[in-house]
Amino acid sequence: MSRYSLIGCRSERHAEIDPNSQRAALSSWACSECHRNLPGQHLQDVQLSHTALGSQPLMGSFGLYVGFYRRAFLDQLCDSAIDQHFRHAAVLGPNGKPYRDWIVAVAHNRIVVRGSDLPEHNYCPVCGALRYVTRGGIFLYPAPPENIDIFDAGGGPLVVTEKVVERILEYRWPKLAVTELGVAPRPLDGFGTLPLRRLPSNANTSE
Ligand SMILES: [Zn+2]
Repeated sequence: MSRYSLIGCRSERHAEIDPNSQRAALSSWACSECHRNLPGQHLQDVQLSHTALGSQPLMGSFGLYVGFYRRAFLDQLCDSAIDQHFRHAAVLGPNGKPYRDWIVAVAHNRIVVRGSDLPEHNYCPVCGALRYVTRGGIFLYPAPPENIDIFDAGGGPLVVTEKVVERILEYRWPKLAVTELGVAPRPLDGFGTLPLRRLPSNANTSE
C-alpha cells in the first residue's frame, strides 16, 4: 500500500484577492457559497491586491478556496505536465500583469483529510461539496486509489504519495510543512464513508 503525506505551508501568509476578481470568480467558476472550484469549470486568472508573496512555495487565500503555488514547486511535484494533475490559471498582480512564478491551481483529484479530534462535516447547499473540519488526529479513509500521486486537500495543501514527497524534500523549500498520513482501518471520526459531493435537491449542476 502506498504511504501518504500532507504537504502545506508553515507561513501564515495568504493571498489577498482583489475584490472585483473575487466577484468575477464567484459568478463563474467558483461556488458562491463555499468558494470551491465548481465541477467541470476551468479556473480563470485571479488578480491579487498586493505584491508581497513571500518565499514559501504555496499559500491559501481569503476569499477563494483554491491554492496559490510557485510554478517551480508544482513542476517539481509533478512527474508529467502540470495540466495532467491540476486545473490552473495565472495569478495577476495589482497592475494586472501576470506573475510568472505563481499560478492558482486545484488538483484534479480531491481528497478529504479526516480527523478524530472534534470532526465536523456537512455539504454545501449550493454545489454539494463535502465540507469537513477537524482539530487533529488526522488520517485518510478509505485508502486512496493507488494510481494517483497528488490529491487536492483543499485551499492549498496537497496529499501526495511517498515518492512525490521524497522528490520535493530534496529542493528544501522554506516553510514547507510535511505531515505523514496513515490510512485508518476504519473511520475514526465515526462518519463512515463520506461521498465528496452530495447534490442539493434543487441543484442543476452536474459533474
Ligand atoms: Zn459550494
